[in-house]
Amino acid sequence: MNVPFLELKPTYDELRAEVDAAYRRVMDSGWYIFGPEITAFEGEYAASVGVHHAIAVANGLEALQLVLMAARVGPGDEVIVPSHTYIATWLAVTHVGATIVPCEPDERTWNIDPKRVASLISPRTRCILPVHLYGQTADVAALRALADPRDILVLEDAAQSQGATAHGIASGALGHAAGVSFYPSKNLGAFGDAGAVTTSDPALADRVRTLRNYGSRERYHHEMPGLNSRLSELQCAFLRAKLPRLSTWNARRRALAAIYRERLAAVPDLVLPEIAPWADPVWHLFVVRTSRREALRAFLAARGIATQIHYPIPPHRSGAYASLGWKPGAFPLAERLAEEVLSLPIGPHHREDQIHAVCDAVRAFYGV
Ligand SMILES: *Cc1c(COP(=O)(O)O)cnc(C)c1O
Repeated sequence: MNVPFLELKPTYDELRAEVDAAYRRVMDSGWYIFGPEITAFEGEYAASVGVHHAIAVANGLEALQLVLMAARVGPGDEVIVPSHTYIATWLAVTHVGATIVPCEPDERTWNIDPKRVASLISPRTRCILPVHLYGQTADVAALRALADPRDILVLEDAAQSQGATAHGIASGALGHAAGVSFYPSKNLGAFGDAGAVTTSDPALADRVRTLRNYGSRERYHHEMPGLNSRLSELQCAFLRAKLPRLSTWNARRRALAAIYRERLAAVPDLVLPEIAPWADPVWHLFVVRTSRREALRAFLAARGIATQIHYPIPPHRSGAYASLGWKPGAFPLAERLAEEVLSLPIGPHHREDQIHAVCDAVRAFYGV
């Protein structure tokens, strides 16, 4: 059976009437940037996360960068980031001139390990930037217990976790502020690039709002050196059409993840992530670890099952950070994960029989 890794077209098929109406509404309005759609989307998204402010921006990387700029994190400041993450988390930090302090993951959840974070805090630490990787929230409560008494900010990379909760609180509302991506393949995706910052801090929100538009509140008055990170009316209108479906789509992902978890739990050599008792993940990706990754991948591909690797090269080993001089072995857990992780197909429009077919094939590979 053919199982694609993820298909985006079914989200349009499911919402064709709403999306087409959104398109016509914006096109007919004659107003394409900073109009009623962005204002409405920001209100609706903030309400869905449970924060006072959402600021829509051009993409997830700039959302993170703008949060750091707004918090005045810059040269001389240290930011603790996961060693195992997508490179955007690191790029946001280095783009503002701050120093990366990588922290190895918890070996059970693969998210940043608060116990290791504790040993990395220095007088220069300005912020901790956890990532809710693969859709499971990092342990922000433990991070805040370390950070809050020291006036260190906890800023979330919530790009993979729209709708995920910890202790019933949504990702994006767990730290002082968060950056989120609406890249098309994320749990809530636009039809193009898009992102947002969420926070309940009014001063921080105001600075992000100003910084995303050339540092300007009033036309041609530039109070600070900002970016052009505006989000178009069209993308905001599309996101408004999709946002009401997010919880249904996440529920479908959870149902499919439950099949994987049940059927792959006892397969030898296959390691599944542990889910913290307080976490309710949204399964942006379904990732397993195996020492026989390439053979398993090829076996699945021969049966029409598409897989991906998130991510094959840890940021400290990528060309972008060659100048920082981290040697192989500098972050062994991240390096080991990069060698062993395999993402199996999951998405709101996969059928249960497709996921069972993947489980059958994985079990056949291991002969169980
Ligand atoms: C997708 C992603 C980003 C960046 O989002 P873009 O919209 O592609 O800029 C940042 N962090 C993580 C963990 C991501 O998965």
